[in-house]
Amino acid sequence: MTTTSALVLFSGGQDSAVCLAWALSRYERVETIGFDYRQRHRVELDCRKVFLVKLRETFPHWAAKLGEDHLLDLGVLGEVSDTALTREQEIGFAESGLPSTFVPGRNLVFLTFAGAVAYRRGLNALVGGMCETDFSGYPDCRRATMDAVQKSLSLGMDRDMPVETPLMYLDKAQTWSLSEELGGKALVDLIVEETHTCYLGDRTQRHAWGYGCGTCPACDLRAKGYAKWRGAA
Ligand code: ZN
Repeated sequence: MTTTSALVLFSGGQDSAVCLAWALSRYERVETIGFDYRQRHRVELDCRKVFLVKLRETFPHWAAKLGEDHLLDLGVLGEVSDTALTREQEIGFAESGLPSTFVPGRNLVFLTFAGAVAYRRGLNALVGGMCETDFSGYPDCRRATMDAVQKSLSLGMDRDMPVETPLMYLDKAQTWSLSEELGGKALVDLIVEETHTCYLGDRTQRHAWGYGCGTCPACDLRAKGYAKWRGAA
């Protein structure tokens, strides 16, 4: 086992793509994991494959560190959750006050499987794009939740399993800025073109910030962050 290796939870979205670049600039060996939970925006699963290919082509020094990609079928999560991300349902707020896109237990399940894969692959950290700054109110994106998860994984597997969350306290404008710091314009261009954010899975409309319907909460956040970052640049 190398001392600095990580498994990045890479969904194909903007945040996890930036996390992947962050991990490649920091660890000696990096692998990626993604999950098919029958999400409405399953198009992100196609995006992640293309993104990985182009990332390798564009950044050969990162390609040398980038190992296997793991795609896990978690269809069972889609079966037990009835949310706007896994059903044809309006995106809004549920009675709980949480957005109807909240998939209960999603990150807990993802991190547990990621921990199991990291254990088997001899990777000693997990990296995820969870963020509580701009976040949609998802309780499983909070750092406090991540602290609890890393503790339970470490106890349950009797091995340190830190959960690194480089975007936790950044807003979306700062996330764009971090992309540029890590990989310059080439990385920003790759993120605009090949990552997917839109909850509805729309890739027919191209905006300055990338593809999406332009109106769902995820598009809105990505668009506003991009505008703020460009305005400040
Ligand atoms: Zn959208």
